[in-house]
Amino acid sequence: MTQAFGLGCRNEPYRLDRPERGNCEIGNLFFENSQMSHHHLQRRLLAWFSKNARAMPWRRERDAYRIWISEVMLQQTQVATVIPFYERFMQRFPTLHDLAQAEEEDVLRLWEGLGYYRRARALWQSARLLREKGYTTLPDDPDLVATLPGFGRYTVGAVLSQAYERRLPIVEANSQRVLCRLFGIDDDPSRAAVKNRLWKLAESLLPLKSSGNFNQAMMELGAVICTPMKPQCGACPIRRHCTANQQDRQEGIPFKARAETIENVNEVAIVVRRSGRWLIGQRPDGGRWARMWEFPHHPLGPGETPQTAAYRLLAALGLDAEVGPEMMTIRHSVTRFRISMTCFLINQARGQTSRGDYTKVRWVRSGELADLPLSTPQRRLARRLLEIDS
Ligand code: SF4
Repeated sequence: MTQAFGLGCRNEPYRLDRPERGNCEIGNLFFENSQMSHHHLQRRLLAWFSKNARAMPWRRERDAYRIWISEVMLQQTQVATVIPFYERFMQRFPTLHDLAQAEEEDVLRLWEGLGYYRRARALWQSARLLREKGYTTLPDDPDLVATLPGFGRYTVGAVLSQAYERRLPIVEANSQRVLCRLFGIDDDPSRAAVKNRLWKLAESLLPLKSSGNFNQAMMELGAVICTPMKPQCGACPIRRHCTANQQDRQEGIPFKARAETIENVNEVAIVVRRSGRWLIGQRPDGGRWARMWEFPHHPLGPGETPQTAAYRLLAALGLDAEVGPEMMTIRHSVTRFRISMTCFLINQARGQTSRGDYTKVRWVRSGELADLPLSTPQRRLARRLLEIDS
């Protein structure tokens, strides 16, 4: 088994920020022989992963560029959602060179629906920086990679361990839950001291070889066995090492932060038509949906009705017209905000268009909207316009 997974052995004991008792401490469990416990956990987890890893397109090969794209897409997004986006992205930008050559708008358009667009911009910027330095793929150089936009400690470790077998640990939501349960850590993992401790523990568990598979196995275990609710401890390959399991505290670990309060927000959007074209604005740099296009919208002021807010928005863009009728109301969520956006159709607006808070404004035909990056609620609105125009 050791041969099959190319496992090495660690000679030093686990380094924990608590005093050691005996040869090795894993949470509250103690083993007479620390090497045996290290090897046992690593072997069990890698053997389980080898048999149970879910098929994913990026797992077919060890290409650093492809692993990088998949890792960025998987941040805050489920595997099943990512797969079709990943396949489309790879068809369009099969190499780092193709991505670096692309226009930012094309990359954002392809990312549309995945959300967290900052990730797409960082990918594109990093690809351009690497191409300028003469690289054809993401290099096996943690110091350089850590300076690129979008690369935090997790992404550096995840990509380089999988692509190049760099012995770098990872801590993300799934593996963090496994680590907390394994070591019986019930403190808040968002606290810097606890987070630090988790990184040290993740590092201490890494085998000398197969770091990429080991990291993936930790994440996979968290995703399918050591789930937030009702973990399947009976099917867990490392249960004999698990403090939470031994103490029957799986449901109480990890620490759960209080749920954020939901806030309702009412917005108004104006869909302005002049001479068969529609008015759209490009959002400024920075902030949510940076540099993406949209139909003008903003939140209602205190005591404002949607109609009054629509007139105010129209005036801010230098236009004057009769507001109405109401086209549709779009409901969507952004983090803790539940947004209800009332959309008004406005025909024959008069006046000289000014850009208001936007970087640019344009009058476009409905067919042109297909090529521009829009947020998901704005895309719903654009689809409705195609119906109106047809
Ligand atoms: S034994 Fe249970 S709680 Fe512990 S790591 Fe495995 S699934 Fe998670």
